This record gives sequence, C-alpha cells and structure tokens, in this order.
Amino acid sequence: MPAPHDAQDDVVRGPARLTVLAGPTAVGKGTVSADIRARYPQVWLSVSATTRPPRPGEVHGVHYLFVSPQEFDRMVSDGEMLEWAVVHGRHRYGTPRGPVVEHLSGGRPTLLEIDLQGARQVRDAVRSAGLDAQFVFLAPPSREELVRRLVGRGTEDAAERERRLATAEVEMAAEPEFDVTIVNDDVTRATDELAHLLGARAEGAAPAASQPA
Ligand code: 5GP
Repeated sequence: MPAPHDAQDDVVRGPARLTVLAGPTAVGKGTVSADIRARYPQVWLSVSATTRPPRPGEVHGVHYLFVSPQEFDRMVSDGEMLEWAVVHGRHRYGTPRGPVVEHLSGGRPTLLEIDLQGARQVRDAVRSAGLDAQFVFLAPPSREELVRRLVGRGTEDAAERERRLATAEVEMAAEPEFDVTIVNDDVTRATDELAHLLGARAEGAAPAASQPA
C-alpha cells in the first residue's frame, strides 16, 4: 500500500496539462467550473471528495463525492488523496489522485478547482517532481465586488459569512504565487480565457486555423 505522499510524482506524466484553479471565496470558481463543464466537455473536471453535506441540486459523483468523515480518513490514510484541506475551518475537501492521473495520461486537459491550501500542496508536489502544471488565480473585479458576492449568495449564516470573508482576505493576498490571473468580471469571458489556457475549444467553435494567431 503506498504511503500518503510517496506517489505524487506519477501525477502529471503524459501529454495533457494539469491546471489548478483557485481564488478567494465567492469569486465564482464554481460558476466558472460549471460553465467549463457545460461548454468545454473535452476538459475533465476533477470530482473532489468532501465531508460537507450536499446542497440542494448537488449530485454525488458529479459535483462532489459526499463521504463520511470515516471514509475521508480512510482515503487519506490509504494515500488516495493528491491533496486535501479543511476549508473555512469546517469540512474537509480533497482531490482523489487516481482519476487525475488516469485522465492526464489519457491526454485529457484536467482541471482542479480547489482552495489555496490545496493549490499549494499540488504546487509542491509537481515542483518536487519537476512536472508540468499551471496555476490560475481567479480574481474578483474589486474587493468591494467580492464582499457583495459573498454576502449576496445567501447560502450561509452570518458567522459562516464572517469566516469566509476572513479566509477570502488571506486568499486575495496569495495572487502573486500564481502563474496567471483571470479577472471574473464576466463568467463567459473568464471561462473562455481559462479554456484557452487549458488548450480547449468550445463545442462547435471554428477550427484553430481560422482563429487569430
Ligand atoms: P463549497 O463547499 O462552497 O462547494 O466549497 C468550498 C471551498 O472548497 C471552495 O473554495 C472550493 O474551491 C474548495 N474545494 C472544493 N474541492 C476541494 C478539494 O478537493 N480540495 C481543496 N483543497 N479544496 C476544495
């Protein structure tokens, strides 16, 4: 059985590139990921495991693998997680390594939408293995807009919003650690920019030859 962190150098062998998308809470990472899923089906979106309960409309195996704390412990101790973190001081979230390796070695552009702690773990893993991955920071148009989005979402109580705001401040300061920043002022534009970085093209889009160089 592999030790928890001794198999990370198998992560990004193969032609496809691993892309990690992170950014502050409520910047719209989930919306951009959903838009990627809808318009760029050639991109494989990693399905994270989480101990958080599902929200209405979330589907096990599509949006997350909703697992018990015991099952999460097992996945970590069996070395199945590429990275994992406690997010917002509450629930645990992690990226199962196997499917990431599988899709990358099958040549599929692969996207992880994870928090900053997870992005740092992946960065350390790929760096120490000398492998290729790109790290994309999704930024709000302004700090004021981020606060508006955070409060406007209305899915969390006041204490949870405070916690998320504090986390968002720390996350905003991490932007210089990333290779590229995409400003999420318009979801479709931000998604198209991300897809371009992934080397993906929208279904039905004109062939590359007719695009500007
Ligand atoms: P939510 O509970 O709103 O779906 O997600 C909360 C946060 O968890 C988001 O910032 C999201 O990026 C992060 N997250 C989702 N999946 C993972 C994961 O596999 N690993 C890490 N480190 N963070 C994750």
